[in-house]
Amino acid sequence: MILDLHVHTSRYSSCSRLDPDRLMIRAREEGLDGVCLTEHQVIWPQAEARDLSHRHGLAVFRGIEVTTTAGDVLVFGVDQAPPGVPTPEELKTQVDQARGIAILAHPFRGFLVFGFSELKLSVEDAAGMPVMKYVHGLESANGRVTDPENDLARQVAAHLGLVAPGGSDAHSEDEVGLWRTVLDEPAADETDLVRLLRSGRFRVVRRGDGI
Ligand SMILES: [Zn+2]
Ligand SMILES: [Zn+2]
Repeated sequence: MILDLHVHTSRYSSCSRLDPDRLMIRAREEGLDGVCLTEHQVIWPQAEARDLSHRHGLAVFRGIEVTTTAGDVLVFGVDQAPPGVPTPEELKTQVDQARGIAILAHPFRGFLVFGFSELKLSVEDAAGMPVMKYVHGLESANGRVTDPENDLARQVAAHLGLVAPGGSDAHSEDEVGLWRTVLDEPAADETDLVRLLRSGRFRVVRRGDGI
């Protein structure tokens, strides 16, 4: 099952130009089986997500991108947005209670503008950042991040033994499907999606790389 796990639409993310119906049309053209809506601080109402899914005949899952005191965290499997700006620790407590999953979004976006070596940010140093203790995984491929920054995320996730899914972070039509997470088996619902993500039963593929 091929999903774009990180998508913003103009309905609930003011920074996005992507109309929900256009998203679904593009997702189909890109060969995706579905998308996960990850608006900033907002979870789509279940009925609206279901309606969008039925109208286009593709799976629609709901997540949320939560601004924390230590950066953005993608959360799947929770029903409520946390109040205010939580610490990563507070967010993880909520996510664990809901049996969801917390993935640090674009972990090193902007870190490597001068290049990996100039900053001397080693995998070990990056893995030691306090926030790493409070997430279940790192987003290892994000469409709005440079390749070296995505590579570092992948290496840090491997170093820590964390799962490392990917997504486009689309805010416009052309970005949909830039990165895909290919689940080993279809996810029946959001609980099932969390189960597959938590167990690492997926691989990440870039647009044009065979899928
Ligand atoms: Zn973000
Ligand atoms: Zn995002």
